[in-house]
Amino acid sequence: MKFLILSDVHANLTALEAALAAAEGKWEKAVCLGDVVGYGPDPNEVIDRIRDLNAVTIRGNHDKVGSGLTSAEDFNPVARAAAMWTREHLRPDNRSYLENLPLGPVSLNGFSLVHGAVRDEDEYVVGAAQALESLLEAPSPVIFFGHTHLQAGFSLGPDNKLTTLRLRPANGEKFTTLAIKKETNYLLNPGSVGQPRDGDSRAAFAIADSGASEVQFWRVPYEVESVQQRMEKAGLPEPLILRLSFGR
Ligand code: ZN
Repeated sequence: MKFLILSDVHANLTALEAALAAAEGKWEKAVCLGDVVGYGPDPNEVIDRIRDLNAVTIRGNHDKVGSGLTSAEDFNPVARAAAMWTREHLRPDNRSYLENLPLGPVSLNGFSLVHGAVRDEDEYVVGAAQALESLLEAPSPVIFFGHTHLQAGFSLGPDNKLTTLRLRPANGEKFTTLAIKKETNYLLNPGSVGQPRDGDSRAAFAIADSGASEVQFWRVPYEVESVQQRMEKAGLPEPLILRLSFGR
């Protein structure tokens, strides 16, 4: 069975549709690592689409704040403004969908899903030391995580060698393939569908086979301008609109 691994869609329907179009026919089950909403202009449309896909979805920090489960006091002013806008615009059924999303880790076919770190869903795993903590606590050899919006990963081999993995396909390339080695633990971020921050504006996602013996890391361009126009119309903060152009 093949899995479509989505993360950090952030209410960007155009990016999600581009990812789904590129991945069409290549997967049987979708998963989503949280932050379905926040920042973007299409919270209801994106939740509807994720629900239609019947994706196994865990919650992210923006899902908690957007649904009102937690307060926005830890957010910067720009993120907070977008979270308040999201709260105002969520349909009641979608608000309750977000409220009821499970906390990771969730295990599935030999791999696990978390939003941040294994032990702390709100932790940003960017460096090797943090990655090591999650790799040592790994509930399965392969863990998919999100939250940082960086398409990258880490592996811990049988010799206890910790390696940082560059997983972003080059410009002009659709995907790059990672072969999963035996007796090695992996912490893999498919990247963000709706708000990439690794300097590449293309929507990011991954496709993994059952047991995850091979993972493809994808990038697809989408019409950034149409999302930016909807954000402007909605009155969402300017910095959030601009950053989509740069993938920062
Ligand atoms: Zn996020």
